[in-house]
Amino acid sequence: MAKHYYSIAIDGPAGAGKSTIAKALAQELGYHYVDTGAIYRTVAYFLDLLDISPKDVDGVTRYIDELTIEIEYDEEGKQHMLMNGMDVTGDIRTQDISQKASLVSAHAVVRDMLLDMQRDLARKHNVIMDGRDIGTVVLPKATVKIFLTATPEIRACRRYDELVAKGTDTTYEKVLAEVKQRDHQDTTRAIAPLKQAKDAVLVDTSELDIPGVIAAIKAIVGEKIPG
Ligand code: C5P
Repeated sequence: MAKHYYSIAIDGPAGAGKSTIAKALAQELGYHYVDTGAIYRTVAYFLDLLDISPKDVDGVTRYIDELTIEIEYDEEGKQHMLMNGMDVTGDIRTQDISQKASLVSAHAVVRDMLLDMQRDLARKHNVIMDGRDIGTVVLPKATVKIFLTATPEIRACRRYDELVAKGTDTTYEKVLAEVKQRDHQDTTRAIAPLKQAKDAVLVDTSELDIPGVIAAIKAIVGEKIPG
């Protein structure tokens, strides 16, 4: 009989704390952490290098077949993104690529190409997967589904602090405007929009610190997955 793997889907808008929480939990549970946003970012980065606008569906369709994406994990469990064999993990974390990933992820040709890759990981490992459509589209039968959110102002504040720590020259107002624009794009697109799955548990992180969110999520996971 095929081995059964557990999957924990964490969806939510940018800056809700998905990756921080998912990473910590994956380490604790010994699960694979899959950051699906990084996959869309890799597509956006590839097209950007070719000077294809993320809105140009014909250009995207023409060049997407020339892209091979692989996900690898290093000894510390950190996810690395390979774009045609080249490690682009550090290159895809800019504000520009965040916006372009949001635009490029609206195209069916892109989402279809990435669907199997994501499902395949969940077929072979216990996973904690974060994204926008994991509980609704990618893993509709996930063992646990969580929708993590926080107010746009709080999410922008967290993003701003992260960017400043990395030495990025930006302002809180600019980050807030980008957070709101991405929320709008991600929730209003026709295919696989960001929304809470009917059977997902809502966790609002606005008033919680990281240990508080981890405790809340561990309690939810503990109800479905034996410890
Ligand atoms: O999570 P992250 O900010 O890295 O995601 C970048 C963009 O990729 C998101 O704004 C969203 O448009 C897209 N994305 C998606 N579906 C996912 C993960 C990310 O459409 N499962």
